Amino acid sequence: MNRDIIVVGGGLAGLASAYTLLKAGKKVTIIERESYLGGRVRTIDVKGRPVDFGGFIIYPWYREYHRLIKELGVREKLERIPLHDVLYELEDRVYTPFNKVKLPFTDTAKLWYTLGVPSLRVKLERPNLETFGDETVSETVRAAIRDEYEGLYEKFIDIVAQGYCYAPVTQFRTAFMLPMMKETNVHGDIRSSFYFPNGNGIFIDALVKKITALGAEIYLNTTLERVEGRTLHTSNGDFSADHIVFAQQLASEIASSINPALAEGIAYTHFYSAVVEHATDPQVNGNDHWGSVFYAPQKHMPYQVLTSIHLADLYHGALKNYILYNVKVDDALVDPCTMLSQDGLFAQISDQCAKLFPDAKPLRIVEMVNWKQLMPISTVEIVKKVRELQGQNGYFFAGDYLGSPSMETALRTGILAANAIK
Ligand SMILES: Cc1cc2nc3c(=O)[nH]c(=O)nc-3n(C[C@H](O)[C@H](O)[C@H](O)COP(=O)(O)OP(=O)(O)OC[C@H]3O[C@@H](n4cnc5c(N)ncnc54)[C@H](O)[C@@H]3O)c2cc1C
Repeated sequence: MNRDIIVVGGGLAGLASAYTLLKAGKKVTIIERESYLGGRVRTIDVKGRPVDFGGFIIYPWYREYHRLIKELGVREKLERIPLHDVLYELEDRVYTPFNKVKLPFTDTAKLWYTLGVPSLRVKLERPNLETFGDETVSETVRAAIRDEYEGLYEKFIDIVAQGYCYAPVTQFRTAFMLPMMKETNVHGDIRSSFYFPNGNGIFIDALVKKITALGAEIYLNTTLERVEGRTLHTSNGDFSADHIVFAQQLASEIASSINPALAEGIAYTHFYSAVVEHATDPQVNGNDHWGSVFYAPQKHMPYQVLTSIHLADLYHGALKNYILYNVKVDDALVDPCTMLSQDGLFAQISDQCAKLFPDAKPLRIVEMVNWKQLMPISTVEIVKKVRELQGQNGYFFAGDYLGSPSMETALRTGILAANAIK
């Protein structure tokens, strides 16, 4: 059967695209590989408590996200992130609370001066996908600050120009990014960042409910395997349509099938999110009242605890002694047989944990998610190629790889693709 519009991938980008099209009266079919919708936004029940294993921080400058939260009627479920409890590892084993983290005054002053240039300010305040990879912003900012962090600020500012969430973790020391946001107040006050204490799944559920009510046809457990013109060969038979929104990750296998020009695809980091039970409350700086620790990636380390969240605090006293870890895994450096087993992963987590929380003994992994494609590390070249193909042959593209990898980019690109079809 030939359909009007097929959306491949039921993550935020795909759902936003489908919702926008359905509201415009279009007929939409969604094809999703997994048995659930939401993609990398994923809330799982752990011991009766909802825990976010994927994207959860909603920054104040996420305009589409905030707009949709309101439209879907879930705004009252949102809460401010307790950032004063967030600690950063700025030097080896020195954990600094967020509100004590500071850029040197001279850097801050120069940065403010630089960002005062009107044309630059417009670009930074209104980040859009067109500024992806814009060297001018980086170069200008680079000139204003000391270069003692191996060009990190320069790379970072490209991300800021996008509306920023996370930078690809292989390239940046996360700890350096948020202080800069705080000092310069680019886009908005980072201290007004939000999350859903009962899980971001609330947002996905509300969106899916609307989409279903508007008549979307949804195929779960259906993997796109090959593309031929406007026919999609999937694990669940063939689908064809006048317009196709590719809102799945753009890994090389599928990218080359869509268009040979995209053969290189996007590289993604490989992560595990795991909830680990501990014998005692893990402490940082002798204090168990902490939110998360950003553990800076180091060269030649195949994995690291990037964030660990004290769920007892974050989820209002429930789940004491449980921590959510995000552990990065670099396939090139890791023996897949060891890492892909739960025992191997637990051994690696225990090693990291001993460094971060010497007094806390991890007992076991309670839940885990193996993110085989987590953070896109997109190059300017591939983003340009995707943009050139946008709309050609009935193909449209959406996903977080088109800007800074974040929930906002996913939503915005999904909406952009839908608006281009309408
Ligand atoms: C641990 C973690 C923490 C994060 N924290 C934050 C945060 O705090 N704030 C923030 O803004 N962002 C965060 N992110 C990033 C954010 O979750 C993503 O940027 C965003 O969800 C990506 O949405 P997407 O729709 O582009 O891709 P996805 O959500 O990956 O959606 C793609 C969908 O396509 C499906 N699919 C893939 N291949 C096929 C195929 N061949 N056929 C059919 N379907 C297919 C997938 O199953 C998936 O459902 C985090 C992510 C993770 C994993």
